[in-house]
Amino acid sequence: MRSQTSSVPNDLLIFDAHCDTVHDLVDPSIDFRKRTQGHLDLKRCQKGGLKAQIFALYVNPVYAPHRSLKKALMLYQTLEKKIFSPGYGMKVTSTAEMDQAIRKNKLACWLALEGGHIIENSIDILELFHSLGIRCLTLTHSKNTDWADSSGDSPRWDGLNALGKKIVTHMQELHMVIDVSHVSDKTVESVLDVTSAPIMASHSNARALCDIPRNLPDSLIKEIAKRNGYIGVNFFPVFLKKTIYDQASRNVQKYKQQHQELLRQKPDDPDFISKAESDLFQKYVIGNDHVDVNTLIDHIDHIANVGGVECVGLGSDFDGINSTPTNLPDVSSYPALIEGLSLRGYTTKEIQKIMGLNLYHFLKRFDL
Ligand SMILES: [Zn+2]
Repeated sequence: MRSQTSSVPNDLLIFDAHCDTVHDLVDPSIDFRKRTQGHLDLKRCQKGGLKAQIFALYVNPVYAPHRSLKKALMLYQTLEKKIFSPGYGMKVTSTAEMDQAIRKNKLACWLALEGGHIIENSIDILELFHSLGIRCLTLTHSKNTDWADSSGDSPRWDGLNALGKKIVTHMQELHMVIDVSHVSDKTVESVLDVTSAPIMASHSNARALCDIPRNLPDSLIKEIAKRNGYIGVNFFPVFLKKTIYDQASRNVQKYKQQHQELLRQKPDDPDFISKAESDLFQKYVIGNDHVDVNTLIDHIDHIANVGGVECVGLGSDFDGINSTPTNLPDVSSYPALIEGLSLRGYTTKEIQKIMGLNLYHFLKRFDL
């Protein structure tokens, strides 16, 4: 791996903790085998050497309180139709199943829910998703839920409230991964108080390098690592560099004005609002200030220095972000990251850990 070649050794496990590809696949014209848009499809997974991926079923909080469940089930059905039925990938719910999928040369697909509002405040619905094979829940998206505070909203519950604590405790019993990306610092602290489980921040960066609420402070990186948890670095330039975040924030003011207008137009149509929000995001929240793979590696370095090299790995957020580091345009470009890590002085063993083994071992420690 120290050579300057751009190919990936076949025995290297590349395993990423977060992508939003399912959302794009809902469009009937999009084929998972090969597509021209977006970041991830089968052909590019094979080119980049990706062997396993956690696919998020993201539901915009505008579907709360009563229409999120249906939306998430439709996303689940999309995965069935577009990836599992045609045999392009295998749904996996354990590391043993993941090993099997990889032996069969299939993309190993883990499933996660992104946004605690999806379970509509119901332990029964949480259990329903578990029985469908979902093994991870991101507690919030960018809005507070009825039981947990988000880093993107004003504090309401001081972390988790009583229902939140009950849900998180039940997730630990079910062996469902507790994902703290997007939540507020107080919520991470509450989670650490109520569980003894190792926890995950599937797609979060280091606040010491990019000081925004969406990233993790060193104190929480340390705590997550001490608990044998996992932190996947997010490739979004807006979360990698503060100047880019500030530039995007200025545009968000325009976003907000137009967003208010949309809400007035069709307040009861979450499909309309969700699509329009996504279009506004594409237009205004971009980060194209020539961040390259080295800025991403700075975050990996920092998290490894604070928490140890065993706690850090990939959490690309591919297909959930509208810009990427210049030499990491999509999933086929993982060789550039491997080469960058090698040039930074990481050993072959350390690179194996960061590119996938750390996430694999984290799930194994969680008895998955
Ligand atoms: Zn996200």
